[in-house]
Amino acid sequence: MPQPNGNNNHSDDYPPNPLANLKCECCGDTKVLGVCSTIMPYSAAFCELCLRMYAQPTFIIDAIIMTSNYDKENVHEGVRQSVTAFVDGGYMSFDDYFDRNVEKLKELDLENAVKFDERDELDKHAFEEYTFDDDDEVEGDDDIESDLGDDDDKQQPR
Ligand SMILES: [Zn+2]
Repeated sequence: MPQPNGNNNHSDDYPPNPLANLKCECCGDTKVLGVCSTIMPYSAAFCELCLRMYAQPTFIIDAIIMTSNYDKENVHEGVRQSVTAFVDGGYMSFDDYFDRNVEKLKELDLENAVKFDERDELDKHAFEEYTFDDDDEVEGDDDIESDLGDDDDKQQPR
C-alpha cells in the first residue's frame, strides 16, 4: 500500500507523493501536511503544528520586518497578534521575533544597499559604453522617417 505521507515506496499503480520529500519551511519537520500561501506572495510547505501555531517561515517574517521600515507600528495588528516564528525549537511571538532580530536585519539591509550601490556603479559604466552620441541619434531618426514613406513633412516628430 502507498504511504500517504511517507517515503517513495509506492506501487507502480500510484504516482509518487509530491509532498513526501518536502520539509516544513518553518521548523524543518519532514511530516508536511501541505503547501499553502504565506502572508506574503509565497507558498510554503507546512507541517500540521506550524499551521496550528500560525507560524510563518522566518524569511517571510524578516521580509515583513524589512518592509515595515523596522517599525512594529507599521505592521498590521492581526499579523503582530497571530504570527509566530519557529526559533530554537519553540514558537516565538511576532513582536518577540521582531525585537530579537530588528537590529541584525537593519545591518543586513545596509550591507545589501552598499552592494546595490556597487552594482549600480557597474551598470552606469555598462550603460555609458552603449550610449549613442548625438550624431547617432539623428541618424536613427532619419531611418525611422524613411521607413514611414514619402510624406516626410507629415511624419515629423513634434
Ligand atoms: Zn513545521
